[in-house]
Amino acid sequence: MSLQNPKVGFVSLGCPKALVDSERILTQLRVEGYDIVPTYQDADVVVVNTCGFIDAAVTESLDAIGEALAENGKVIVTGCLGKRPEQIREAHPEVLSISGPQDYQSVMEAVHTALPPKHDPFLDLVPDYGLKLTPRHYAYLKISEGCNHRCSFCIIPSMRGDLVSRPVDEVLREAERLVKGGVKELLVVSQDTSAYGVDLKYAERTWRDRTYATRMKALCEGLSELGAWTRLHYVYPYPHVDDVIPLMAEGKILPYLDIPFQHASPRILKLMKRPGAVDKTLERVQRWKAMCPDLTLRSTFIVGFPGETEAEFESLLDFLDEAQLDRVGAFAYSPVDGAAANALPDPVPEEVKQERLARFMEKQAAISAARLEAKIGTVQRCLVDLIEDDIAVARSSADAPEIDGLVHIQNGAEAGLRPGQFVDVEITESDEHDLFGDAVIKQALPVV
Ligand code: SF4
Repeated sequence: MSLQNPKVGFVSLGCPKALVDSERILTQLRVEGYDIVPTYQDADVVVVNTCGFIDAAVTESLDAIGEALAENGKVIVTGCLGKRPEQIREAHPEVLSISGPQDYQSVMEAVHTALPPKHDPFLDLVPDYGLKLTPRHYAYLKISEGCNHRCSFCIIPSMRGDLVSRPVDEVLREAERLVKGGVKELLVVSQDTSAYGVDLKYAERTWRDRTYATRMKALCEGLSELGAWTRLHYVYPYPHVDDVIPLMAEGKILPYLDIPFQHASPRILKLMKRPGAVDKTLERVQRWKAMCPDLTLRSTFIVGFPGETEAEFESLLDFLDEAQLDRVGAFAYSPVDGAAANALPDPVPEEVKQERLARFMEKQAAISAARLEAKIGTVQRCLVDLIEDDIAVARSSADAPEIDGLVHIQNGAEAGLRPGQFVDVEITESDEHDLFGDAVIKQALPVV
């Protein structure tokens, strides 16, 4: 049966939000009876979901389109770079169709044109939680698309438009389906999770006979009913974020916040046009930690932004000392085609940017290492990702997949652990990124 189904190859590039788009398209393809195949040679047509965030991603996307054209010849392009069709057509005039992010309908129409569906609803089974590209036990939950801010270094709003939130009942139903399908950890993603629902005027919806506002706190309360881990990404330090900290302290959602601060100097934050660029950020961070001592804070920063002085950079180092963040990513500023910041005066010379980046990373590495070392002797609840020989590789509440550290459980195989299982781990060692320890219970825990 399946040999006769039309076959689609799929290349997924970019961030977790693009991954969610890919999952939706793949699910729809399967619903309509298409087979998804892993090689260009087996595919009748190839869909490339592109990223256009920074110049390197544009190059990677154009290269991926070129490779798919060379290997297969029939290529449909979608995703962020699809917002700049002229750039794609210039490099690859022979692509069949181009559409932007979240434009599932255009992708499906292009597939239908290139390759008519052959649907047999009795034979084609799709799990009702859809198809996922992440391992079965965690899933990204996209709550909105687009962004109302206009950070001067970012072109996402021009590619994805203003904020469009999904109504809270729709998100909760999707989360419920995912958990029923075996997902143990929900990763809430958007461009600005703290702005969730503002475009819908925080509309109230009903889910499981209860009313929820389309708002970050109510969403977290709903998600906490599902018995899975809930992790929040891309939150800005607005005052109302204070409201979700008690849910973290009560163990309802993970005590974890991913807050892209980007800088600490008020003048640079103003030049960046950052949301939530308030003077009180540090006080807010301290207050959150007092309310929820287990809180893990992850952030990203840009060093060498145009006009950044040595004194402003040093204020950023001081901020790191005081804020004591757990996980930090940093980039030397690089102009993005089309971004407003490109017009700012006083670019920082490349060697100064690199020197500042190295100093920044050195300081944060010491802070992160000390914070991990302080966990030695504690017991951390972990979620097992995979088994490698004798060791189970897991993550604690402090570790988001792909971007944070890992917990290596030395007696993982002996304890009979399996991916997707929760286990308590006694921490015995640490390094700059990861923790090491032993499962407290030597027998496999039931899958929660
Ligand atoms: S908040 Fe700023 S950096 Fe984030 S997507 Fe919106 S404009 Fe871009």
